[in-house]
Amino acid sequence: MSRDTTQLLRLAIALSVSASRLEDRFWVHQLDAQIDSVLDKGQEDTLESALDQLWTANPPAYDALAQAIEARSSGLIKADGQELLLIAIPVQAWSRYSIAAGAIAPARLAELRTQLHGHVLAADVRLALVDVLFSPDQLPRGFAATRKFARSLMDAAEHEQDLHVDAAGLAQAIPFVADVRYVVGAVMVAPDAAVFRWQEAQHSREQVLRDWQAYGGAVLQTMLPACAIETLLPNAYFNAWRESDLSGRGWGVRSTVDYLKAVLALPAANLRVVIAPFYDHVLEEYRVSFTRVGSNDVLHGVVWPLIGNEDEATEVTNEIETIVRAAGIGEVLLLNERMPLEYCDDCGAPLFPNPEGELVHAQIPESAEPTPPLH
Ligand SMILES: [Zn+2]
Repeated sequence: MSRDTTQLLRLAIALSVSASRLEDRFWVHQLDAQIDSVLDKGQEDTLESALDQLWTANPPAYDALAQAIEARSSGLIKADGQELLLIAIPVQAWSRYSIAAGAIAPARLAELRTQLHGHVLAADVRLALVDVLFSPDQLPRGFAATRKFARSLMDAAEHEQDLHVDAAGLAQAIPFVADVRYVVGAVMVAPDAAVFRWQEAQHSREQVLRDWQAYGGAVLQTMLPACAIETLLPNAYFNAWRESDLSGRGWGVRSTVDYLKAVLALPAANLRVVIAPFYDHVLEEYRVSFTRVGSNDVLHGVVWPLIGNEDEATEVTNEIETIVRAAGIGEVLLLNERMPLEYCDDCGAPLFPNPEGELVHAQIPESAEPTPPLH
């Protein structure tokens, strides 16, 4: 174990057992300094290794460390005391064709800025937006890269400008039927000032979300042609990311029902859903297959990963069943045997359970309308 890792563990544990805010601040200060030094050296492994060691051994210390790492990689303080926070604006989308990603036209970005200031951000917040609609695999990878990204927005945020990123230099967005897109930016505020509108006395978080869905949603819809979308609450970067991961699971299942109804011209009542748990030592995910009622051919599949501290005790299967029943699915079959995490040798797509409990490749019949790749 490196000296840096040992230090991180010691400070995170000390913070997790501290009994007063006064003592907390003492440890937070030291932990922040240690994390900054590791981030600036780009030693992602040191952070990962410290988190790994606390994950099962000491959950309170894990939470303290994870929170501190997220705070230091998505927040910066300028020499004059002004604070920068990286934010994300997530939107769930699905399409029979493809979900747009890449450069955002200047006019659209200006409209987003107006709606964010008008409905989401507190007064006196300065904002920088990046002119790219990101797919998840195009976001900065790792905490050190995230901090660098946040730092690159510092000047723009201070001057209420946008930051140009060359979308051509990013990874190609992997095509899925349903996926999330992010607009990313940074806000700059004076010390202790409100960041979001819901921090101001006369506004609630619910109202902010409703207003954003109406006004921000209209702008996002024009950026995502031929897509159905669900606009989520803009928020601190890592939180927005987690929330969209969570809501993306239900979105993926609901979208698949709509997608199959559209491409197969079938009512949902003629479709069957098969749900099975997939293991790699421990339960990792559920895979959800869609077939016609009375057929064993898997037409499409959706992965439902476990997130955070979900484990075998999770009631996820009830949640999935409730979603597909509400969408009008005719039959739901729950398989109880443990399935191995297997993937297609050719294309790497996850294999999905058919109603007999065999793992197969999901495949839309050739007769269906042209569609984007299935995985
Ligand atoms: Zn394949």
